[in-house]
Amino acid sequence: MSRDPQYDILFEPVAIGPVTARNRFYQVPHCNGMGTHYPSAMAAMRGVKAEGGWAVVSTEECDFHHTGDITPAIEARLWTRQDIPIMARMVESVKRHGALAACELVYGGMAGHNRLSREVAMAPVAIPLQDGDPGQARAMDRSDIARFRHWHRQAVLRAREAGFDIVYVYAGHNLCLLQHFLSRRYNTRTDEYGGSIENRVRLIREVLEDTKEAVGDTMGVALRLAVDELEGDEGITSDGDGRAAVELLADLPDLWDVNLSEWENDSQTARFAEEGFQEDHTSWVKQVTGKPVVTVGRYTSVDRMASLVRRGHTDFIGAARPSIADPFLPKKIEEGRIDDIRECIGCNICVSADFMSMPMRCTQNPTTGEEWRRGWHPEEAGPRGSDSSVLVVGGGPAGLEAARTLGQRGYKVTLAEAGDELGGHLRTLTRLPGLSSWMRVRDWRVGQLHKLANVDIYPGSELSGDDIRGFGFDHVAIATGSLWRRDGVGRSHRQPIDGAGTARVLSPDDVMAGVDLDDPVIIFDDDHYFMASVLAEVAVSQGRRTILVTPSADVAPWTHVTMEQGRIQARLLSLGVELVPGHDLAAIGSGTVDVACVYTGRRRQLERGSVVLVTMRDSRDELMIALADAPREGVVRSVTAIGDCLAPGLLASAVYSGHRYARELDTDVPVDSPPFRREVVELSGDWP
Ligand code: ADP
Ligand code: SF4
Repeated sequence: MSRDPQYDILFEPVAIGPVTARNRFYQVPHCNGMGTHYPSAMAAMRGVKAEGGWAVVSTEECDFHHTGDITPAIEARLWTRQDIPIMARMVESVKRHGALAACELVYGGMAGHNRLSREVAMAPVAIPLQDGDPGQARAMDRSDIARFRHWHRQAVLRAREAGFDIVYVYAGHNLCLLQHFLSRRYNTRTDEYGGSIENRVRLIREVLEDTKEAVGDTMGVALRLAVDELEGDEGITSDGDGRAAVELLADLPDLWDVNLSEWENDSQTARFAEEGFQEDHTSWVKQVTGKPVVTVGRYTSVDRMASLVRRGHTDFIGAARPSIADPFLPKKIEEGRIDDIRECIGCNICVSADFMSMPMRCTQNPTTGEEWRRGWHPEEAGPRGSDSSVLVVGGGPAGLEAARTLGQRGYKVTLAEAGDELGGHLRTLTRLPGLSSWMRVRDWRVGQLHKLANVDIYPGSELSGDDIRGFGFDHVAIATGSLWRRDGVGRSHRQPIDGAGTARVLSPDDVMAGVDLDDPVIIFDDDHYFMASVLAEVAVSQGRRTILVTPSADVAPWTHVTMEQGRIQARLLSLGVELVPGHDLAAIGSGTVDVACVYTGRRRQLERGSVVLVTMRDSRDELMIALADAPREGVVRSVTAIGDCLAPGLLASAVYSGHRYARELDTDVPVDSPPFRREVVELSGDWP
């Protein structure tokens, strides 16, 4: 197949100063939790994107001086020449596939904290450190500014030595000193670096000039700028200081990479923002500069990408998340395989890994982060290890991914699903407000399965243990999922809550199945991810007074790591949901519930209609129990629980579990040591 001519525009080369990108697909800098801790993993992950057709592949934040240290974030680093080999490995991995490698230098300033170096952080003015750290950054004087410029210049030269084609000057996401100088929120200086926009942009200009002078015509110089902080006139806005900054610096950088600040505004989830939601803030940039522009928007619609370029909105289709979900997105467009694109669902599980300082994972792409340590390629799964037949029971995310990957490996696969429709829990989950894009997890897999002649799919087939014993398959994967408990057992309660078995006490599955809710609805969240908050939205949409009780201090606390918590709490408050944080659900009566303060134990009563208990799920492991002896009896060779049937968890975990099962079938997997390569720190220096 060849590409549709209407997408030819996406494959035009574009010059970025002295270097040329082979097409318009640009992987903008994104964190990945690998960086200097897992450098081979990081390099391989980037290399796969270059192989998948991205024209530019960028690093994550690369902190370049110990006084701007962003520990514990696991990022790239260029403090000294000692760091060059790690970055050079990434560059080599990217260039091997014909892409340009870009390095995003960052100096954290008051966002950096210097937790590793223990240096005192610096900022335009004396100011408390970000994120509630108990400490302050000190104001930079002119000699500090001169030193900062020198450090940046030295780092640029190190980036060049590592082989990068493009180097970034970074002033975005509220994560770096240069943005703090630009933003009137932080920069209240009274010298030539504060006050007017010309003064506040001065340091960015100087650093850009230093950088251009240092690299000459050997590298492209990009400026990554937050053109709107979504703080109104208090901060940078796209019709105020953001626009003025672009006008003042118009043709100085070789490339403008423009976006929103903070990161949680720029990388909003699908629950809160549609594809291309940043466009209103960035569409004007190309009119102000003659230099190429890259913008992001969680783009997966190819028509929209082509239209953005045609309409003069952008020169490059910038992507972080879509390039994680499908590293081969450009190549698939080029080869006319649009249906094969695995679209990002906008869930921010990738982002969560960065907040937890661990290697990135992705709901849609189970191979991300595993390219080097497990040798998993996103497009290839290796040949089958035998002529065995495999039965996969359950057509949810785990079963679909297992069947797809086994089919890709060439196994004879049968997928049986009890329901008439595939998708497992996504069939009901994706009807909840803001979660429809999660159906992409099912849709992509079903589309791929239909292309595999060696996979037979049987919907409407609820199988029993006896059925399976009678079939004669070699291997059986049980992907029968899980059900939410209705008795309150979970984190806070190891025994059922008093009164849980009574009328109008429901589980999330009941609500998703469409049960009518009675006023007032009490939702007890002991789960801490998104579910309770979404069910609260459902209750409000039914016109019910809604009360959310949670032992946590804030609602949906795990969503801090998906950068959704603030928006969730704001949405619930604006919908009029009554929040009862710091409380456990102690007992359920016929017309009231008792809630107890988790600190003092003090109880109070709330009137209740329906009570929805969001606590934990039980695996549907009946088939595992029924078939426990089947391998020993020689009826099958193996029976394996995967996905939520093994242990309920994230959607990403279910997909990964299915993928892993399929990858590892008929391979020797060590059990006494990690089943992946490790990157172990080499001891260096004198000791003791
Ligand atoms: P996961 O997230 O692990 O993929 P899901 O709960 O999404 O799990 O999907 C499990 C699927 O298994 C559901 O679609 C359910 O209908 C199906 N299922 C459960 N029990 C059986 C069974 N005995 N036979 C066939 N399909 C089953
Ligand atoms: Fe997209 Fe979710 Fe994957 Fe991140 S984890 S790239 S948001 S699908």
